[in-house]
Amino acid sequence: MSLPKASQLPIGTAITEPGSTRRNLTAGWRTLRPVIHDDRCIRCQLCWLYCPEGTIVEVKGVFKVGNRTYDVKYEINYDYCKGCGICANECPTKAIEMVPETP
Ligand code: SF4
Ligand code: SF4
Repeated sequence: MSLPKASQLPIGTAITEPGSTRRNLTAGWRTLRPVIHDDRCIRCQLCWLYCPEGTIVEVKGVFKVGNRTYDVKYEINYDYCKGCGICANECPTKAIEMVPETP
């Protein structure tokens, strides 16, 4: 049996190729969305380290949260977050909540 060449595959499969992940927004199958509650975040970096998609972004600046001031905060790039929930599981202060996506 011979396998088809890439150029013979249907269009839907041809868009997945080396280097295509930046233009293929991979959040399409997410059913749960992580939401960061900044007032509970202690800036431990664990979500940023453990996210398998690298979609948690460290934003530098001056951020006042209550009576505390931080020089960093964490945001999620929802174009690529797949909703796996690893960040919420790893967060030691339960600052990340997984909420259902609205249709
Ligand atoms: S839900 Fe998964 S993919 Fe999305 S930010 Fe958290 S760890 Fe990353
Ligand atoms: S794991 Fe939780 S506490 Fe740590 S940086 Fe992420 S949101 Fe903040």
